[in-house]
Amino acid sequence: METIKAPRGTRDVLGGESWKWARVMDVTASTADDFGFREIMLPIFEHTELFSRGIGDTTDVVEKEMYTFTDRGGRSVTLRPELTASIMRSYLEHDMRRGPQPVKLWGWGPMFRYERPQKGRYRQFAQIDFETLGVPGPMADIEIIDLSMEIYRRLGLSNLQVVLNSVGCPKCRPAYREVLKKYFASGFDSLCDTCKSRFDRNPLRILDCKNDACRQITESAPAVTDSLCDECGAHFKAVMRGLENLGADIKLDNRLVRGLDYYTKTAYEILSGDLGAQNAVCGGGRYDNLAESIGGPHVPGVGFASGIERIVITMEAQGAYMGKEPAPFIYVVTSGGGAENEAVSLAHDLRSRGVSADLDFMGRSMKAQMKTASQANARFVCILGEDEISAGTVTVKDMSAGTQETAPRAAAIEKIEKNVSRKEELR
Ligand code: ATP
Ligand code: MG
Repeated sequence: METIKAPRGTRDVLGGESWKWARVMDVTASTADDFGFREIMLPIFEHTELFSRGIGDTTDVVEKEMYTFTDRGGRSVTLRPELTASIMRSYLEHDMRRGPQPVKLWGWGPMFRYERPQKGRYRQFAQIDFETLGVPGPMADIEIIDLSMEIYRRLGLSNLQVVLNSVGCPKCRPAYREVLKKYFASGFDSLCDTCKSRFDRNPLRILDCKNDACRQITESAPAVTDSLCDECGAHFKAVMRGLENLGADIKLDNRLVRGLDYYTKTAYEILSGDLGAQNAVCGGGRYDNLAESIGGPHVPGVGFASGIERIVITMEAQGAYMGKEPAPFIYVVTSGGGAENEAVSLAHDLRSRGVSADLDFMGRSMKAQMKTASQANARFVCILGEDEISAGTVTVKDMSAGTQETAPRAAAIEKIEKNVSRKEELR
């Protein structure tokens, strides 16, 4: 029988990588605190209508990428492809409108999209996601964009470009649609099949197409910013001014429309120069009509989501600090033959004092145990040879200095415990 492999488009985050994710999560959580965002934890599957109505029927995500199935009770449910719609659903369901506004929430976890897997693009991937709900004005947009940049700054990322656009609102978008349709009509035959079908349903989506022929056509397409209504125009200017005021380096891109239909006004992405083809580390914007499209009252919102795998790939490519790879502070080595209980007891005493300790389970030779200790990058080795066991002592070897010292068990433990407070500098 063939051994079972993980499904296509999924990946195992192994022990050699998971500690890098821990760094991303630590920095994200502390930045969230500093900006006044609260974490919420939401279900991984939702009713399918939440996404089909919220994200929009003409988007790639809803048209081709959702993991939708009928459960045993005959309901259509979908593994979440993103978090924004779920956060808005939760806001409405728990009547968070009644409390003080804005409500600033963040979450993270696995998302699911049936895509063609490649580097930085998976069928199960993880996002961090931030949303500010209940404020119509540009200050919230500025804060969200600043927050995303601050997370990357703290993670030590460089070579990033913030790309900004406005996609207007239901007041000004219909006119822009017409302008666009007129423009695309002349090059219609050269568009890809998907874009041909989008021409009537949602011509803005064509601007987002990655197909080469479509890109050539969209290059000189009329700019959305020339069609904005007064309100959207003023909002866009205020966001730009606010970001300039923070010293942010922003590039405007009139073709940035983003893959989800719920965006209004601000749309942005942060691109990494070190990611290759899947170059977006983060995407976000304002979505003032999402709440209504899922059956709620009018609730303005703005937010962003960032792929954790892409953050980690960028950090690795740039040699950013990823935290320290976990290693035992102590490795307990025994001479075998009846010393196992002593070794387990010493490891137990060290661990109960908060000292990380590891030991051999396989009754291997002292030499083999020493090798494991050094491969595991242990800071000290506690040797329990025959002499030590009969004398009630422990020999502590400093693995980087190469020195060693024998002391009564209690005194040795005490000394190790003292060293733990200097753990970072000793590593
Ligand atoms: P892309 O244009 O790369 O498909 P998107 O516009 O579909 O991105 P969003 O829905 O805005 O992406 O999601 C926000 C972020 O989540 C992206 O910027 C990216 O970092 C990450 N992301 C999206 N899809 C995937 C995926 N399939 N695998 C890994 N990360 C992803
Ligand atoms: Mg996508």
